[in-house]
Amino acid sequence: MRVILNSRHADHAAPGEFEAGAVIPCHEAPGRCGAIRGALEAAGGFTFEDAAQNEGCVAAVHHPAYVAYLRGASAEARHAKGGGLNSFWPTVFPFGPNPRARGAHALRGTYCFDVYTPILPGTFGAALGGASAAFRAAELVAAGAEKQVYVLTRPPGHHAEHDRCGGYCYFNNAAVAAQHLSRLGKVAVLDLDVHHGNGTQHIFYDRADVLTVSVHGDPAGLYPFFSGFADETGTGAGLGANVNVPLPPGTGPHEYRPALARALDAVARFRPEFLVLAFGADTHEADPIGGLKLPTGFFGEMGAAVRGLGLPTVIVQEGGYDLGALGASAVALLGGFEAR
Ligand SMILES: [Zn+2]
Repeated sequence: MRVILNSRHADHAAPGEFEAGAVIPCHEAPGRCGAIRGALEAAGGFTFEDAAQNEGCVAAVHHPAYVAYLRGASAEARHAKGGGLNSFWPTVFPFGPNPRARGAHALRGTYCFDVYTPILPGTFGAALGGASAAFRAAELVAAGAEKQVYVLTRPPGHHAEHDRCGGYCYFNNAAVAAQHLSRLGKVAVLDLDVHHGNGTQHIFYDRADVLTVSVHGDPAGLYPFFSGFADETGTGAGLGANVNVPLPPGTGPHEYRPALARALDAVARFRPEFLVLAFGADTHEADPIGGLKLPTGFFGEMGAAVRGLGLPTVIVQEGGYDLGALGASAVALLGGFEAR
């Protein structure tokens, strides 16, 4: 299987994240990509290539002012001198009936919805590298050059909305791929990260030609908390083209299997030409933040089940934060996808 890499991913490495009033090591770290690549190389059967930076691909799904903000804030951080000024963390978010953003602090809260998603000197380049890799994979699948392509990247993308970063995500890589493929026919995005793919839902919520389906931990108790509920079904022309399948904490294979079948059935009934699989290994039982209980072997079954749709597919790496389980989970999923 061809693997498209984000050669710039390590340019973004948050020094920590906030949890319960403390700063802890950031779960979303550069070692994630190395862990997966090492496991793929050991398993064999994968070829690796870089993608050229392509700013045009993010303009198709993100607001130009948001793209300009990320670029500008990264550049500002790059030129800042010490004292903690080389990273930007939002601390106050829009509130009240008439919020106005008139300065740097307000913009940080305007273009971001949580405190997990700082802007560092290398953030723009790293995020653009991931979007560019997803776009390249979509090009290959759109051209019929490959039936499946895997995008090995971080930071992840599926929480990034049209004009806001959040949840470690800046540009929505899966949406970039789906947007490109949608020029040729209907597209389904299947999100199997443990967290709701709120950004992808947000970007395509009023679109009838892009189905978004997400299977995830119940947002009543799991990030992103404010969306991912079963009654969010789309709006306008997109009504009925969004499916959320929330699962209780502790869900294992026995309960996950019918949820996945329901999601796959929704995709099949939509009759898309292409599939984008947003894959998060944070459903693994060893994941430090996921809360589900899927063993490594189940990811092979998951890959085979998705492959059963028979669709040309771009597979985009999203979350997965246990470095010991991450590579093996990706190998199992992609192995299941390729099994004949
Ligand atoms: Zn996740």
